[in-house]
Amino acid sequence: MKFLAVIGDPIFHSKSPRMHNNAIKSLNLDGIYTRYHLLNPDSLKDKILNLKLSGANITLPFKEKALEIADFKDSFAQNIGSANTLCIKEGKIHAFNTDALGFLEIMKELDNIKKALILGAGGTALALAYVLKQKDVQVCVTNRSKERFKDFKAYQTCLYQDLREFDFDLIINATSAGLKDESLPCTRELLEKILPRSRFAFEVIYGKKTPFYQLCKSYGLRTKDGLDMLLWQGVFAFELFFDIKDKREMIKNTMKEALQLA
Ligand code: NDP
Repeated sequence: MKFLAVIGDPIFHSKSPRMHNNAIKSLNLDGIYTRYHLLNPDSLKDKILNLKLSGANITLPFKEKALEIADFKDSFAQNIGSANTLCIKEGKIHAFNTDALGFLEIMKELDNIKKALILGAGGTALALAYVLKQKDVQVCVTNRSKERFKDFKAYQTCLYQDLREFDFDLIINATSAGLKDESLPCTRELLEKILPRSRFAFEVIYGKKTPFYQLCKSYGLRTKDGLDMLLWQGVFAFELFFDIKDKREMIKNTMKEALQLA
């Protein structure tokens, strides 16, 4: 029996138990997936080992810590500097970043992207920037404050008010603006300069039509929200937990079905 969990703070809102348990049930596997509210990052490793977890998804604010405690790190997790999926084998922790793998799937739907603008400079922005760079896309990262640019040395960065270039094939909102309020990530004037010249927009937030999403749609951009990225990161984590490779669409469909349940 595999014992799995999502670990974070806060954790009550997490949809992962619902997604993974539905997939476990549909595929008739032997396992259970729960949630664990962790307060102290320094106890992450002990908790995982003491609870005898076979695997875990790690969410805010412990993704960097998850990488730090790992014995083995895949190249995405290593290069991005954070991990959201841990597999425990013979007492050793293996770290992966399936958020990046999820975005890689999204990229398959976007053709001919040469230049991308990322709004936001947090952990998600870093994962997305890395994936885009792997795909030879020129990336510019812009944010409301500059402290986090230290993690983006490999990329062009600037504050919103210093942005002087407005031609991008893809614009991404990787901020939390619009998640719990009705705000845009930057000024409407700035977006109104960029959106008419852009073709695609990606909003990392899912579950609501944010002001950014709606504005991009109103400019006729092909606009996608973060639901598929959420699903794909779950699918890739699930494949790692159960060492399954040939049921990708089925896992995705059962996870999607779980999200639609009341
Ligand atoms: P971080 O806390 O690491 O970064 C947040 C970023 O958003 C920072 O750049 C911050 O700017 C900016 N920001 C926050 N609030 C505002 C605001 N009101 N206006 C403008 N900028 C703002 O968070 P994450 O990178 O982990 O998460 C970002 C978003 O991505 C969240 O909404 C999260 O739900 C979503 N997400 C979606 C996933 C999916 O699968 N679809 C997966 C993971 C995350 P500053 O540096 O100035 O504070």
